Amino acid sequence: MRAVMTKGKDTPWEVQEIEKPKPRENQVLLKVHASGICYTDVHQTKGDLPVNYPCILGHEPVGEIVELGPGVRSRKLGQRVGVPWVQAGCGSCEWCLRGKNAFCQKHFGTSAQMQGGHAEYMVVWADGTMQIPDTLTYEEAAPIFCAGYTVWSGLRIAKPQPAERVAVIGIGGLGHLALQYAAACGFHTIAVTHSDDKKKLSKELGANQVVADGRELMESGGADVILATSNSAKQTLECIKGLRPDGRFIVMGVYNEPFQINLMDLLFKRARIIGSIQNGVEYLYEALDIAAKGKIKVMTESFALDDAHSAYEKVEKGDVRFRAVLTP
Ligand SMILES: [Zn+2]
Ligand SMILES: [Zn+2]
Repeated sequence: MRAVMTKGKDTPWEVQEIEKPKPRENQVLLKVHASGICYTDVHQTKGDLPVNYPCILGHEPVGEIVELGPGVRSRKLGQRVGVPWVQAGCGSCEWCLRGKNAFCQKHFGTSAQMQGGHAEYMVVWADGTMQIPDTLTYEEAAPIFCAGYTVWSGLRIAKPQPAERVAVIGIGGLGHLALQYAAACGFHTIAVTHSDDKKKLSKELGANQVVADGRELMESGGADVILATSNSAKQTLECIKGLRPDGRFIVMGVYNEPFQINLMDLLFKRARIIGSIQNGVEYLYEALDIAAKGKIKVMTESFALDDAHSAYEKVEKGDVRFRAVLTP
């Protein structure tokens, strides 16, 4: 099969012929139809997040089940499924027993302990897969397995109340979905972006208001919930001043930089900073369901496997509107 190999730190992605993997007990073989490129792929390629090179990246894969390993009972041949980052835990640590395998120290991560999706085929744990609603195409579904799942989890953990104001920092792969999910729920939704081109697009995606930075956000009334999806720590930090009293600042972007804040900014507003990941499969189910009902539109640019490296470069520069998807 053909696969996009990441061979070392900061080396160009390369398409290579390698042996097709075989599903073992409780695993299935996916024929990958779409695999989104997340900004985390850039962090992994640059070595900011630990990976063992050479490897196949891609943690937003979706496809069709073409082979079942021994013992699989929950999945059938031909089913359309995807997998998120965490496919399974060790099964016996405290967090696995609590049903929170994202915290398991020995979890099986897509593009980490398990092969990633930038390839024609991949083996995944059967019980780690989620079925894709019929009304979503593979290209639409793929970005929901990381970007959509992440931002919907972030919005849910913030527990926004009726009539609250939700701001989104960073209108990219994650942010364009965060805006739409917040608007679809009826919250007053504010996009925070410097880019003129994204200001117009943000309105089209359902933003009630667009501001350039935290200062403008504060002057325009602030936000009760800020969903930080930007990969710039500087931009993220600057927006904390736009939080309203009792506000929640949800951190979802990955930065390899220290994050310094003046605690007085939090204290007198009784504000909270909350880290958020993919907070449990029920949120993946909801994120897919909302998209399947046509309430949000996943915006993608598709690339052939052979163009993987140019797609990567476009993602790295932030030039994609809004999610690059490889279609092997
Ligand atoms: Zn991701
Ligand atoms: Zn565990």
